[in-house]
Amino acid sequence: MTEAPGEILEKSAGRRAREWITMRTMLAMFCHARHGSPRGGLCPRCAALRDYAALRLTRCKFGEDKPTCARCPVHCYKPDHRSLMREIMRWAGPRMMWRHPVMALVHLLDGRRDPPVRPKPETPAG
Ligand code: SF4
Repeated sequence: MTEAPGEILEKSAGRRAREWITMRTMLAMFCHARHGSPRGGLCPRCAALRDYAALRLTRCKFGEDKPTCARCPVHCYKPDHRSLMREIMRWAGPRMMWRHPVMALVHLLDGRRDPPVRPKPETPAG
């Protein structure tokens, strides 16, 4: 049986796994406060965004050298997912400093790294 992207990220280490845990935490805080979901649970829209984000992270073209998604020169998210994720980050970002200060600090440090050069589009072989 193939693993879901979120399960793959849970078992890994490095930038993508760190971002996954941070994103999941912020999403849970936001959904609980804004959508009334029980602690540890997500409404269907936020659950869909979480699964989508896990898929994007596992397929990220920068691999473990990725910038934070907020500073990415590519932005691989679809516009509606990107817009909801921005709203979540804006809401949860300041609250992370109080509730999860270490995670917030590490995320801030990750975000200070220079974004990698935008990869060139692949040219057809031959
Ligand atoms: S937005 Fe950028 S950094 Fe984030 S997963 Fe997509 S390509 Fe990778």
